[in-house]
Amino acid sequence: MHGALTSTPFQIAGNLTVVLAIVFWLGLAYWMVRDARRRIKDPWLVASAGLLGVAIPYLGAVIYLLVRPPETLAEAHARELEIRALAERLNGRDARCPVCHAETEPNYLVCPVCTTALRQPCRSCEAALDPLWQVCPYCATPTAAPMLEPVADDLDAALARESIPRRRRTSSPRPAA
Ligand SMILES: [Zn+2]
Ligand SMILES: [Zn+2]
Repeated sequence: MHGALTSTPFQIAGNLTVVLAIVFWLGLAYWMVRDARRRIKDPWLVASAGLLGVAIPYLGAVIYLLVRPPETLAEAHARELEIRALAERLNGRDARCPVCHAETEPNYLVCPVCTTALRQPCRSCEAALDPLWQVCPYCATPTAAPMLEPVADDLDAALARESIPRRRRTSSPRPAA
């Protein structure tokens, strides 16, 4: 009776320690599977992470922490989207008017909001060409002089050039509409 009374608290404490150790061990393995599922696509690798946690108690989790992918699949996806958006911006697909910052498309010749000249049409295929391009990328026709200076630089000359065909148009008979 005396022996049983003194040994019972120790036994309970010992059993409790063993149970806690097992719970912590399996809990860690479960956490490893859950964490691996967020980081790894391959279901076999996720399963082996759980196996590692079960096979090597506690130390398996440390090994897993050392070798697991640094970012989650969601983080990797977000980064991929960010890079794609950046690439699209660099490609001019998300281009904006330099004057009024309105959204423009890569085939716009003129900004539809503020009428700033954005590109010039190709002489051969009439594709919208970037002012920096020396040759049309669609038909290989060399572009005219680079349109680096503003269009309205020589306004008088432009108006004089425009007035000639306008006068001719008014004098010629109009075709029936
Ligand atoms: Zn504009
Ligand atoms: Zn062309």
